[in-house]
Amino acid sequence: MKLATFNRGGAWSVGIVERDKMLDLGAGWRRFGKGEPPADMLGLIVGGPAVLDAIRKVCEAALGFNDDVSLWMPLLQLRLDAPIPRPRKNVFCVGRNYKAHIEEGARARGATPVFPVVPEFFSKPPTAVIGHEYDIRLDPKLTQKLDYEVELGIVIGRTARDIATTDVNDAVFGYTIVNDVSARDLQTRHGQWFKGKGLDTTCPIGPWIVMKDEFGDPSGHRITLRVNGVTRQDSNTADMLFDCAAIVASLSEGLTIEPGDIIATGTPSGVALGMLPQQWLKDGDVIEAEIAGIGVLRNRVRAC
Ligand code: MG
Repeated sequence: MKLATFNRGGAWSVGIVERDKMLDLGAGWRRFGKGEPPADMLGLIVGGPAVLDAIRKVCEAALGFNDDVSLWMPLLQLRLDAPIPRPRKNVFCVGRNYKAHIEEGARARGATPVFPVVPEFFSKPPTAVIGHEYDIRLDPKLTQKLDYEVELGIVIGRTARDIATTDVNDAVFGYTIVNDVSARDLQTRHGQWFKGKGLDTTCPIGPWIVMKDEFGDPSGHRITLRVNGVTRQDSNTADMLFDCAAIVASLSEGLTIEPGDIIATGTPSGVALGMLPQQWLKDGDVIEAEIAGIGVLRNRVRAC
């Protein structure tokens, strides 16, 4: 099941994606479900297995009416937001989690690559989050070195702390795509990564969440990124230094993770920083971040 948040008349609604159509979950629930539907994606995730079970039943019933325009809408006509348009807390991120990306970063700095022995965490503020097809701001007064980073995003499904790697799957709700857009000059200037990775619109997420049972093992999925149709990043989630289970287990050591938390798991090689010559993002560039089993997250860069 693919769960999306779409914008209708300024209000957020949750939908279920089936091929080229979207079921309006609220409309389906009122027709086939009991009680009130979850108010939004966070409410849905917090609702846990009982809500998910109800959604599956609503979806099954609605599939029998897939020509009913009060239930099903053409996907292409909808404005998608980030699946969780305004996360309750910062998006957790892992830096330097693919070997070839660590090597290209070291090469760009003229340094010898040093590989982390534990995941390196940082975060991006909720104000940075945008959805599929939203514009990424490029303020040339602020940054001359805007870069992209396609990443697999983990969406947490339940409250937990000190999770064993073998129990991580139970704590996961699903997976999505994150583009960890980064202003490299600000990253360097401010010492820590937060400022250079925290600007407004620099955390595109989407286009939807794929439930963990449909996505399967998070390792072994092709992960690619194109700028204006040209492939820049092309790798596989199997190449992570720390896999999803190791990342969640490490993050949750003494730190409570909660439903709706998002964890970006690091990017493979091929970022602008590592290119010779470096090709930073510019006004009008179209970025397509793709992960097999999820889809394509597309955003355009707009100078402002
Ligand atoms: Mg990153």
